[in-house]
Amino acid sequence: MPRIRIAIVGLGKIARDQHVPALAANEQFELIAVASPHSRLEGLPHYADLPALLRGVPDVSAVALCTTPQVRYDTARYALQQGRHVLLEKPPGMTVTEVLELMRLATQKRLALFATWHARHARGVQPARDWLTGRTIRSVRVDWKEDVRVWHPGQTWIWRAGGLGVFDPGINALSILTRIIPGGLILKDAELSFPGNCETPIAASLRLACADGAPVRMQLDFLHRGTPCWDIAVDTDGGRLRLQMGGSVMQVDDLPVATAAAEEYPSLYEHFAQLVRARAIDVDVAPLQLVADTFLCGRRVEVEPFEE
Ligand code: NAP
Repeated sequence: MPRIRIAIVGLGKIARDQHVPALAANEQFELIAVASPHSRLEGLPHYADLPALLRGVPDVSAVALCTTPQVRYDTARYALQQGRHVLLEKPPGMTVTEVLELMRLATQKRLALFATWHARHARGVQPARDWLTGRTIRSVRVDWKEDVRVWHPGQTWIWRAGGLGVFDPGINALSILTRIIPGGLILKDAELSFPGNCETPIAASLRLACADGAPVRMQLDFLHRGTPCWDIAVDTDGGRLRLQMGGSVMQVDDLPVATAAAEEYPSLYEHFAQLVRARAIDVDVAPLQLVADTFLCGRRVEVEPFEE
């Protein structure tokens, strides 16, 4: 089977840390070019933007969009209009409507569109989903806390409208929750803490409900010092499930559960290859929809200005 000739658009931290190595290790893909305003990858043709890339290497058949979210939609729309399959880093757009419009366009053009929620590919997520099936959930607790200065140094786009602030990591927790909890989640109320000098929140406290009414409490904090905490705990009628370290470690009643060795980005590109071959769409807007709901109805409090 011919390899899928792919280009990366937006060569930032996640592209270098995860996409480039995952593509190098996957025989179904050939990374042939990069488009990024400033950053270059040694040994590959470089272009300032996607239109220039498609003029320079017209035989690219798929693009992985690893840009900041604020430019995702225009780039994705252009790629689809030009007949290219598209992989979207999370979040898949700045707004839910953008993502729905991309789905419409991909359907019309019969092209693959993949809204990656990388955290859903963490080792413990599928086993957790399987374990919860058939059990009654009593309550859920989510703590998603990290130090933005350590994990996102210099990423000023996070603090601009559309950059999501603490929901940039927090949406990963929502992507896992919406995958493992049967029946969906409804936001009940939220409080968002906005630094006086930022357009996006630095902390948030959410109250949600599972489909059968079980309460979900979620705490997000971008000023958490020391070891990050990316934990989900689910109390059920059949024991207590914990997903730790962003979904990569699973425990039941404090005992570790063995999980498959698959890593997030290699798993995600395996899936994208299948979507490209089938010209299929895999887009779930649920995590972004919940963030949008939070911004719609959450109370806002102003906190200390943020200094890098
Ligand atoms: P980043 O390091 O700030 O990189 C963003 C890149 O986007 C920059 O390298 C910039 O290119 C590029 N860019 C900006 N405008 C562009 C445009 N118009 N066309 C092409 N490229 C453009 O951010 P990041 O951490 O990689 O995050 C990028 C996305 O991945 C975000 O949506 C984030 O939520 C997601 N993500 C990040 C992580 C993580 O751990 N960092 C994990 C998973 C997902 P230049 O450098 O050339 O200016």
